[in-house]
Amino acid sequence: MWDTADYRKQYVGVLGSATAQQVIRKNSEAWRSFFAAREDGEDTAPPDYWGNEDEGRELRTYIRNDQYTLETGERSRLEIPVGQDLKDEYGLGYHDRLRLEVAGDPKWKGEQGRLELYYDEVSDTFRAIQPVTVLDSRRDSPLAEESAALDVGANNLVACTTTTGQQYLYEGRDLFARFRETTEEISRLQSKLREGRYSSRRIRRLYRKRTRRRDHAQDALVRDLIERLYDEGVSTVYVGNLTDVLSAHWSAEVNEKTHQFWAYRSFIDRLATTAEEYGIAVEVESEAYTTAECPVCGERDETDRDGDVFRCSCGYEGHADLDASRVFLERQAGTNLEAGSMARPVRLTWDNHNWSEIPHSPERASPNEERTNQSTGDGKLASVGTA
Ligand SMILES: [Zn+2]
Repeated sequence: MWDTADYRKQYVGVLGSATAQQVIRKNSEAWRSFFAAREDGEDTAPPDYWGNEDEGRELRTYIRNDQYTLETGERSRLEIPVGQDLKDEYGLGYHDRLRLEVAGDPKWKGEQGRLELYYDEVSDTFRAIQPVTVLDSRRDSPLAEESAALDVGANNLVACTTTTGQQYLYEGRDLFARFRETTEEISRLQSKLREGRYSSRRIRRLYRKRTRRRDHAQDALVRDLIERLYDEGVSTVYVGNLTDVLSAHWSAEVNEKTHQFWAYRSFIDRLATTAEEYGIAVEVESEAYTTAECPVCGERDETDRDGDVFRCSCGYEGHADLDASRVFLERQAGTNLEAGSMARPVRLTWDNHNWSEIPHSPERASPNEERTNQSTGDGKLASVGTA
C-alpha cells in the first residue's frame, strides 16, 4: 500500500527498530481489516486510531510483547527499548532500555501481549495498556453458563440484566450534557472562522478533548461492567445492533449528535476486546421492540414511556431501560426471569475517573427524577429517551 521504508527511517532513531516495525504493522492491520470489511459490503469508517484531520493527531505507540519488561510491586517500573537518538539524549548505553516509573496495580497476571502506550490529554498522563493471556483454568467459574443483555442509550448509557437476576444502570446524563456543550462550543467557534477556513487549532483541540473524555468514560464503563458480569459467571453478552439502537432511542433531531457521542462501532469493538480478556463472548443481535414490550405480560402496543418510566396497560410500571434489557435477555436466552428473583438494580455514576455505585435511596428512582427534571430544562435532552 505504501513504502514503509521512509517511515522506518523517520522514526527508528526515536523508537528503535523493533517498535518502528510494530507501529507500521499495527497500521497495516488496521487498513487490512478496513478493506476486508469493505469487501464484505460493510459500511465502516477508515482506521482512525491515531486521530484524523479534524480531531488532531494522537501520541500513541505499540511495543512488541518480548521487547518490554513490566514489574509491579514496591518499585513498579516499565522498561522499553528506544532508538539511538533517545539513548544519546538520556545518556543510555547501546544495550540499555528506557526505564519509566509506573503507577497502578494490574488485576491479571499472565502471558504479556503487545503493550500500547498513549498520552491521555484530558488527565495529562501517559497510559499503558497491557493485554495478558490468562490461563483457562483461572477463568473457570462455577456459573459459567449465565448470560447478560445490554440496552444502550443516551440518558442511561447502558442498562444491563443478567440471567442471575442482577441489573446494572450506568447513568449518562452529565456526560452526555458535557459532550453536547463542547459540541456547541465547536459550532460557535466554527461560525466565527474567517471565510475559506474550516478549522482552527482551538477547534481541533476541543474535538480531541471531547473524544478523549468520551473514550475514557466508555473504556471505564466497559471494564467495570465486564468485571461485574465475570463475577456473575456470565459467558455471553447480547448487545443490540446499531440500527435498532438508533431507532429505539434517538429521535431524528438528536440522532446525529447522539450517534457521534456513542461512536457505537468503537463501543462494540471495545466491549468485545475487553470481554475476550475474560473469556466472555459478545453477540450482536436485533433488539427490535424491546423498548416497547412489557416484561410482565408481553404487550407491545398499549405501553407508554415517559422519561425513565415504562407503563403498561396491565398495570405494570418499571424502569424503561432496565426493562428493555430484561426483555432483550429473555428473548435471546430463551428464559423467563421471575420478578421476585430480581435483585435491586445497581446504579452507577461517572465522576470523570471512576464509575461508582449510587447508594440506594428509600424511594424508587428519586435521585434519578431530580436529574430528569434538571435536564428537562433544555428540552432536547429530555426527548432523547422517549422515541
Ligand atoms: Zn403489561
